[in-house]
Amino acid sequence: MISRKNSRFLSFFATLILPFVMYPFTIVIDAGHGGNEKGAVQTGIVEKDLTLRLAQKIQTHLGKRSGIKVVMTRENDTTVPIEDRAKKIAAAKADLFVSIHFNIDVFRLSETRGIEIYYPADDFAQDPAAAFALYHRNNRSFALGKLIRDQYLKSELFTVWKHDFNMFAQRDLKLFRLTDAPGILVETAYLTAPEDRSRIENEQFLDDMAQFLATTIAEYAGKKAAR
Ligand SMILES: [Zn+2]
Repeated sequence: MISRKNSRFLSFFATLILPFVMYPFTIVIDAGHGGNEKGAVQTGIVEKDLTLRLAQKIQTHLGKRSGIKVVMTRENDTTVPIEDRAKKIAAAKADLFVSIHFNIDVFRLSETRGIEIYYPADDFAQDPAAAFALYHRNNRSFALGKLIRDQYLKSELFTVWKHDFNMFAQRDLKLFRLTDAPGILVETAYLTAPEDRSRIENEQFLDDMAQFLATTIAEYAGKKAAR
């Protein structure tokens, strides 16, 4: 006989835990550039190294959470063409992907600084069915980006580290065009801004950034998985 307490546990297990066990929420973390593609380079800092370090820190944090499966587009300093990144996202049947980058101001303006989040642009040139599918994908991408922005402005990255929030916008990026899954691209900081540089060179800042992104992505995944 199943006691009341046990039955309550069983229903808790069936409704909340079981879906997680059976259908993990798959997140692809894409460390931008790599190998021959260095990305942004600015006085000794190379973007491809930073993106991998931050992506691996996010992987570590997310990997500790039950119900979440993390897939990386690269785990070392290798060249991965953007088409292959898109294929990995599709092969993983990703519920979400997050592409990690660092930025430079093309005019080397030191005052351009802070984190930026981009999500896929609408494509009204598509036929109605394709445009409709894109609408849903873009809406989910927007929801994740908005959650990150809202949480960011309350986080210590903003209030204590004083790392600016520069941009949350749609952008027509090749990776977005090549993928169907919801996703965002994070430009974490500007290598050309002295304030951003000093934070990037501090391991604690990268740890805090990774923890913040992982926590917020997991919060989003929890809401989606619970539906
Ligand atoms: Zn980049």
